[in-house]
Amino acid sequence: MSEGHRIIPISSDAFRRREVPVVDGQEPVADDGSVSLADRRGRPLRDLRISVIDQCNFRCGYCMPKEVFHKDYVFLSRDELLSFAEITRLARVFLGLGVEKLRITGGEPLLRKGLEELIADLAALKTISGQPVEIALTTNGVLLAQKAQALRDAGLNRVTVSLDALDPNRFRQMAGLTDSSPDQVLAGIAAAQAAGLRVKVNTVIQKGVNDAEILPIAEKFRELGPTVRFIEFMDVGNSNDWHADQVVASEEVIARISQSFPLVPVGRSTPNEVSERWRYRDLPNVEVGVISSISKPFCGECSRARISSEGLLYTCLFASSGFDLRQAVRAQPDDAMLSQMIQKIWRHREDRYSELRDAMLREKQNRPLARAKVEMSYIGG
Ligand code: SF4
Repeated sequence: MSEGHRIIPISSDAFRRREVPVVDGQEPVADDGSVSLADRRGRPLRDLRISVIDQCNFRCGYCMPKEVFHKDYVFLSRDELLSFAEITRLARVFLGLGVEKLRITGGEPLLRKGLEELIADLAALKTISGQPVEIALTTNGVLLAQKAQALRDAGLNRVTVSLDALDPNRFRQMAGLTDSSPDQVLAGIAAAQAAGLRVKVNTVIQKGVNDAEILPIAEKFRELGPTVRFIEFMDVGNSNDWHADQVVASEEVIARISQSFPLVPVGRSTPNEVSERWRYRDLPNVEVGVISSISKPFCGECSRARISSEGLLYTCLFASSGFDLRQAVRAQPDDAMLSQMIQKIWRHREDRYSELRDAMLREKQNRPLARAKVEMSYIGG
C-alpha cells in the first residue's frame, strides 16, 4: 500500500473529535419560534445525511480496501453507534433548523438491522413548514431487492444506487468481491421501481479503471428509465490514492455519451442541486446527470451536513474533524439546547474545500493537500 493509500481508523486521534460548543440560550429566534440559520458564507442548512453503520458488504479499493477492512477489523459496537431513538431525535432538531431532506447512508445502510423502523420514525417527522420530510437512502443495491418494499411501506421516498460497472469482472474487481454481480444491483433497482420508490443511479468514473463503462451504463439506463449521474472521481478520505489525472471531467462524459445518443441541457432543478441535468434528444423523458465536484465545485450552494454512524457532525465531506453530537445527545436532555449547539456550529461554518482544491493542486503538483480527512465509509459520501 503506498503512502497515499491509507485508511485512518474511525477511532484514530487523527480525526479530531470536537466538543460541541457551549451555548448560552441566546441564539437568534424569530417571533414565530423559527430560526434564521446561515453559515459564514450565507448558506442555509437544508440537507442532512445520516450514516447508520460503518460496515459494508463491499470492499471497494477507493473506500474500504480489504487490506485494512479484513476479517479481524473491529467495527463500531452497538453502543458506539447512534441508536434509532438518538437519530430520530437529532433529525427532529435539524428539521427545526430548516432541513428539508434526510438521506440515510453507511457504510452500507441496508446492513443495519431493522432499518425500516428508523425510516418509519423519520417519516413521521415534519419540516419547519409542516411538510412531510423527504427521505432518501444511498445503497450499493445488493440487498435492495429483498428490502425495497418494506422500506417503501415504512415511508422511504427515494433511493440512490451506486453502480460503477456493468461488466461482471470489472464490477467484482472494483467491489473487491468474488461472489457478487451487477445483476444483483439491477434486480435491486427493478424491485425499488416496482415498490414505487424514485430511483437514481450514481456512477463514479475513474480514468483507466471504469471510464469504458460510461456508454454501456448510459445505454442501460436509457432503457430502464432511472437517471444515472456520472460523478467525477474525488479525493474523499485518505484511502484512494487520488491524483487529478484520474478524473474524467463531466464535459468529456457528456461529449462521449452525445456521440452515440445526443443530449440536450436541462440545467439544475434547484440552486443547491449538485447534479447538472441533461435529457436525450430522442427520449425527452429520460435524463442523465453529471456531478462536477472537481471541474465545477459547488461549495457556494452547499447546504449539507453529515452525521457519522458514531454521531460526529461534519460540516464538509472533506472535514478532518467532527463535532461530538453523540456525547451531546446523551448528556443533553433538552432539545432546545441541542438545537442551539447545532446552530452555533453551523453559524461558524466556513467550509469550501472543493473551491480551494485547485490552488492546492497547483501547489502540490496534482496531489490533494496532505491532511487527515474523514473516510467516505464513515459518512457515506
Ligand atoms: S467541498 Fe465541502 S463545502 Fe464544498 S460542496 Fe463539498 S461538502 Fe460542501
